[in-house]
Amino acid sequence: MTTDERLTQIERVMLAQAERLTRLEGRSNESMIDKQSIPDAVATLERDGDCYLWVVSQCPICGEKHTHGGGELDGDPRSHLSHRVAHCVGIEPPGGYILVEAGE
Ligand SMILES: [Zn+2]
Repeated sequence: MTTDERLTQIERVMLAQAERLTRLEGRSNESMIDKQSIPDAVATLERDGDCYLWVVSQCPICGEKHTHGGGELDGDPRSHLSHRVAHCVGIEPPGGYILVEAGE
């Protein structure tokens, strides 16, 4: 075996290791994203005077009750279901969640 051939073999092994590391890193990055993924907040629709109100009875972040505006009665309150900033007290930075309608 010539020196060149040996080098090529070492390079190949190193390349394979680098690829494996990159894959492992990719996996750990994915699980980081999983941990930081946005939780769902189950909300029920209520009427508050002339407006709809989405009531999160148990916040997935702090466990408290929060309310979010659902728009006017002649509008579609479900258009207000989306990513919202959680109204948690004393949690900095404020988290967020996806409002989802209860029973879905
Ligand atoms: Zn909260």
